[in-house]
Amino acid sequence: MSEQAYDYVIVGGGTAGAVLAARLSEDPDCRVCVIEGGPSDVGDRRVLELRNWINLLGSELDYDYPTVEQPRGNSFIRHSRARVLGGCSSHNTLISFAPLPGDLDAWAAAGCTGWDAATILPYFDRLQNNIVPVAAKDRNPIARDFVTAATAALGVPEISDFNAKPFTDGAGFFSVAYDPETGYRSSSSVAYLHPILDRPNLELMLETWVGQIIIGAGPRARGVRVRRPDGTTGEVYAEREVLVCAGAVDSPRLLLLSGVGGADDLRRLGIDVVADLPGVGENLIDHPESVIIWETDGPIPKNSVMDSDAGLFVRRDTSDPRPDLMFHFYQVPFSWNTERLGYPAIEHGVCMTPNIPHSRSRGRLWLRSADPAEKPALDFRYFTDPDGYDEQTIVDGLRIARQVAAQEPLKSWLVREVAPGLDVTSDEALSEYGRRAAHTVYHPLGTCKMGAADDPTAVVDPELRVRGVDGLRVVDGSIFPSITTVNPMVTVLMIGERAADLIRG
Ligand SMILES: Cc1cc2nc3c(=O)[nH]c(=O)nc-3n(C[C@H](O)[C@H](O)[C@H](O)COP(=O)(O)OP(=O)(O)OC[C@H]3O[C@@H](n4cnc5c(N)ncnc54)[C@H](O)[C@@H]3O)c2cc1C
Repeated sequence: MSEQAYDYVIVGGGTAGAVLAARLSEDPDCRVCVIEGGPSDVGDRRVLELRNWINLLGSELDYDYPTVEQPRGNSFIRHSRARVLGGCSSHNTLISFAPLPGDLDAWAAAGCTGWDAATILPYFDRLQNNIVPVAAKDRNPIARDFVTAATAALGVPEISDFNAKPFTDGAGFFSVAYDPETGYRSSSSVAYLHPILDRPNLELMLETWVGQIIIGAGPRARGVRVRRPDGTTGEVYAEREVLVCAGAVDSPRLLLLSGVGGADDLRRLGIDVVADLPGVGENLIDHPESVIIWETDGPIPKNSVMDSDAGLFVRRDTSDPRPDLMFHFYQVPFSWNTERLGYPAIEHGVCMTPNIPHSRSRGRLWLRSADPAEKPALDFRYFTDPDGYDEQTIVDGLRIARQVAAQEPLKSWLVREVAPGLDVTSDEALSEYGRRAAHTVYHPLGTCKMGAADDPTAVVDPELRVRGVDGLRVVDGSIFPSITTVNPMVTVLMIGERAADLIRG
């Protein structure tokens, strides 16, 4: 057993953790230690080449969390969470959207003072990632034709840069955090850590797992217990704060294992209660989606950034400026879930994935035992919102996708609809198919919800401090009080930037 001490101990060198580590260690007198469960991404082409993302799913660099049975959804979904420096930004598709103002203003209205759009949006300009619209050479002709067909069929505008200004609806090529010259990622690790790896006041402990936060009298977080790659254990002390950046699955898991969570649940598992915070692990949210697949008339051209380069936003409810349906357009037939349902595999095809930006079903995460090695249970409770909003969104999405597919110039590429097939037309049948073939875009969030200091369901206050424990903050996607309309990674990066300001005062 060995001991070391720093000013700040950051648990997880992932999307937010890398930003925080870089910013806090700008002060040469501040000693920062990042403890990351995975290896370095430096020089690892499997990770750095963005288009290889799909081969990382389920690999040794993926914690790969199953879900519990989903009676109204797909019980076979595996939630990828990256085990590598840069976290999910070293694993994902790096589609990059600044949050929409309405999403942030909703956070502020829910008690998160200081998280309104006017305060938070300027952090987008501070991000070091190279966020650019998909380069012309990477624009596949079928994706271009999808954009043209979507604008013609639905009357939505074509958007050339989704981050130029807030949008209500539209189709276009995404902005992506990448280097168009090399096709390499501009992950949080590449953008924030690679340039500063030789900073003497920054220590990276890789392949090192934090099993528990050490919480002393106060209660106050003093440090963490770790298991190193050689199997030895140790304690790493934080003289100022422990900053938990382990993501929406592992941050609540770590808090619970450390005695911070619902007291009754903790006692049942034999874990000593440090702070009774029933919100830990609750409010598990996601962007669920389904899929509609077409076979194409032979192979399509190969150029692409990561095979999902363009998309579409639709607004059904015009009383809200934000879109309420999203579609990724994939230049590959994403058929894992449809093949399991008996639909054929096809060699050449494309798909659209109707996605629920403001999903209303709420899930929860809990520990199955006090054993830190046992994966927590994830229950998203997909499609269980009482008003049926989520399932109706998928039904509407499947119909809108067909409208786009029936429109030239996309129509001429497509030979037939493979799944669900044109005979599936009623609301009931589209819902049944859509829910069984549902998937995730890997956006679990919200499990250490931020809220007003007196909100009993909140886990952290608007300065991201864990309620009831001094010297402890959570800084990652788990603090989302509600889900953003758009893909969340950029918001998570901005949380890292914001947290650095809050911590430095
Ligand atoms: C396949 C995939 C595709 C996605 N595509 C997009 C996209 O295109 N656009 C978008 O906006 N979002 C996308 N997302 C979601 C987005 O990447 C995440 O929401 C975001 O990156 C989460 O950041 P985080 O900081 O909360 O957690 P993470 O980035 O997951 O960081 C957590 C880090 O903590 C480490 N860790 C965890 N527990 C411990 C522990 N106990 N001890 C030590 N280390 C630990 C992990 O190894 C990891 O590095 C995608 C996600 C996935 C998985």
